[in-house]
Amino acid sequence: MPATADPTHDLVILGGGSGGYACALRAAELGLTVALVEKARLGGTCLHQGCIPTKALLHAAEVADNARDGAAFGVRSSLESIDMAGVHAYKDGVVERLYKGLQGLVGSRDIDYVEGEGRLSDAHTVTVGDRDLVGRHLVLATGSAARSLPGLEIGGRVVTSEEALRLATVPSSVIVLGGGVIGVEFASVYRSFGADVTIVEALPRLVAGEDEAVSKQLERAFRKRRITVLTGVRFASASQDEHSVTVTTEDGTELTADLLLVAVGRGPVASGMGLEEAGIAMDRGFVLADERCRTNVDRVYAVGDIVPGLQLAHRGFAQGIFVAEDVAGRSPVPVDELGIPRVTYCDPEIASIGLTEAQARERFGEVTAYEYNLGGNGKSQILKTQGFVKLVRQVDGPVVGVHMIGARMGEQVGEAQLIYNWQAFADDVAPLVHAHPTQNEALGEAFLALAGKPLHAHA
Ligand SMILES: Cc1cc2nc3c(=O)[nH]c(=O)nc-3n(C[C@H](O)[C@H](O)[C@H](O)COP(=O)(O)OP(=O)(O)OC[C@H]3O[C@@H](n4cnc5c(N)ncnc54)[C@H](O)[C@@H]3O)c2cc1C
Repeated sequence: MPATADPTHDLVILGGGSGGYACALRAAELGLTVALVEKARLGGTCLHQGCIPTKALLHAAEVADNARDGAAFGVRSSLESIDMAGVHAYKDGVVERLYKGLQGLVGSRDIDYVEGEGRLSDAHTVTVGDRDLVGRHLVLATGSAARSLPGLEIGGRVVTSEEALRLATVPSSVIVLGGGVIGVEFASVYRSFGADVTIVEALPRLVAGEDEAVSKQLERAFRKRRITVLTGVRFASASQDEHSVTVTTEDGTELTADLLLVAVGRGPVASGMGLEEAGIAMDRGFVLADERCRTNVDRVYAVGDIVPGLQLAHRGFAQGIFVAEDVAGRSPVPVDELGIPRVTYCDPEIASIGLTEAQARERFGEVTAYEYNLGGNGKSQILKTQGFVKLVRQVDGPVVGVHMIGARMGEQVGEAQLIYNWQAFADDVAPLVHAHPTQNEALGEAFLALAGKPLHAHA
């Protein structure tokens, strides 16, 4: 169909994951006509292979740890075994309930939901089977997929996060290739389920996108949990037989395990669907978009994991909503990448927002950093967790980074993001009362200390 064909919809959205469906829901709310094209399952990676199923696994892992460690709290309990069929039934139950809810939501909003694989016939036409959907505006939201390394084939004992979500049994030993967010989350799950775990990371530290102090604390905590952490170690090759998989690193070391989980990042799903032919500018497979989610082609937007930046579901939601409002003429405020909260749900959890101390120094020169140790926080002591809240602020200026680590600290990111996004000064936050005894208090105490009036803080 030629580019001049009459539009069938105000908005045609390719991909029904976090970015795509959020855009569709908001656009329909605003009275726009919307087609949402999805080739697999509505909800995408986040709902079916990402956030939700992995966090269910991490919760099952926490339950296992609690059963194993009951004696430390005076409760006689022990961990008998992990019933993976039971774990999957629990995890899949959560996913299915949310999936049904989401289908109901999309079904109730007058969205033209089109099942099938879409391809761009021109910059504003998505063809699905024999149907041409012509959008006044087009939104690309086709997401990402697990990557591997050259020469490392996925199959058998070599899996990505996708296969790792469906393992029938707990492996007795696992090598996790990659110490980023996905790698450390799975390492944490497998260790809690009783596996021997070795993480191989080429960079000098785990979770390299986080503040250096957080990486150090995580490595300490993982070593205490007897997870072997090999940083600055590069993968060379892997081989497998029916009994095991062997990884050889560049320094010639051989590591053998039941399973190799490849968690070396995710690449965009954007090739072979007519994007290049439609003239859409791309870089290493990613679709390039500006802060208003606009590609180089007029009225073509891109949101979520196909656009370089943080690969997080809530970034996709926010960008999707932004585009819907922009198209509806609402003049929304662009999503600030640094103002997006980041949580890694391993044990201990990591939560952060804004700049790391090193990034802040690079940007502002002199900065002040303060670390409040969870040793002084009653609730964290009750939970027997260690960690800290670290604040980074401009000298005589607002807080530009908040970094937290410790069991359950992910829940604290809500207040941290308000502080960061409202550019709060220490004196703005210090007078706010934080409930006792909560882990939230640790954030309050860090601000008291930064404002020069520490309470339960050791020098
Ligand atoms: C193991 C794991 C754990 C994660 N944990 C978290 C977490 O805890 N928190 C968090 O915020 N993020 C997490 N993420 C990241 C999160 O899942 C992604 O950032 C998010 O799903 C991206 O949304 P998206 O809409 O860009 O893409 P996706 O969710 O990947 O959706 C893209 C959709 O497009 C469809 N599609 C692709 N091509 C076509 C086509 N040609 N035609 C029709 N449909 C098509 C796909 O089938 C898919 O449904 C995790 C990811 C993984 C893998």
